[in-house]
Amino acid sequence: MPEGHSVHRIANQFEQSFVGHRAAVSSPQGRFAAGAERLDGATMVTAKAVGKQMFLEFDNGLWLHVHLGLYGAWDFAGEIATGHSMAESRRRRAATRKSENAPENAPDDDGEHSMASIGAPRTSRVRMAEQEKAEDDIESFPPEPVGQVRVRLLTDTAVGDLRGPTKCEVLDAAGVDMAIAKLGPDPLVDSPKKGADRFVSVAGKKRTPIGLLLMDQSVVSGIGNIYRAELLFRARLDPHTPGNQVPEEVLRALYKDWTKLLKSGVELGQMMTMDGLTKAQHAKALRSRADRHWVYHREGLPCRVCGTNIVMEMAAGRKLYWCPTDQT
Ligand SMILES: [Zn+2]
Repeated sequence: MPEGHSVHRIANQFEQSFVGHRAAVSSPQGRFAAGAERLDGATMVTAKAVGKQMFLEFDNGLWLHVHLGLYGAWDFAGEIATGHSMAESRRRRAATRKSENAPENAPDDDGEHSMASIGAPRTSRVRMAEQEKAEDDIESFPPEPVGQVRVRLLTDTAVGDLRGPTKCEVLDAAGVDMAIAKLGPDPLVDSPKKGADRFVSVAGKKRTPIGLLLMDQSVVSGIGNIYRAELLFRARLDPHTPGNQVPEEVLRALYKDWTKLLKSGVELGQMMTMDGLTKAQHAKALRSRADRHWVYHREGLPCRVCGTNIVMEMAAGRKLYWCPTDQT
């Protein structure tokens, strides 16, 4: 499932390539025909992500709310953003935020891509979901919708096709407020202090294990399976510790670390969760997923710190990886 950084990058794509443009909205597959009709012909004015959910505002007062879920994906084509220009867009929006890492060009061995090597404007094509993949350029614009496209947003210069979402609905402003109110803080939406306070006040009261709380989108937004395991290891925290037994300063540090990882993920388009790497190690980690995580997907392999075999267990229905020596 796409984690928060992917959804923020998709919102950035909309902000850069669609906002300010009038959109022809349709449902080639038909399942969203009524919703598409309400948005058709309106101009997109805002694109925002909160955690794993995205909200696109139109100038007729309506919003498109999308949650990709496990299988959802956006296919973009036309004059769309590349990795570098997306990073620039983000920098413009948050001029005070410092860019920690320069995007690299090459896709890695799993095809996870920083979008930096996408072709010339007008004919580019990219799929954005859990991973990003540049695809063959289109021959003419707009390309025909292929397969089960729930909604197509078509402007004079760009097209976005959504397939397989868990949620795709039209909301008014009050509905958007209600949807966002159900979500925990997102470090790229809430101010650092307010976000941390909200996280600590909720997580610090619960008896639920911290390994489950981090995945609970009402407690904190955007963390998925990979970031969960990596955040817990980076904090050397036992995933089974009840939230109300995690010291407040540790909860605050967790939220701060999530902020750091999320910003890096939006910048790189990859979940780089190790630090202290040499330049060569960093470049290698960007090429190969096996080299960029402390514990994720490393069951049975020796811990990079202590050598103990990493273990895996099911938690919140997803595989949780952790080191039984370091995280006690
Ligand atoms: Zn260890």
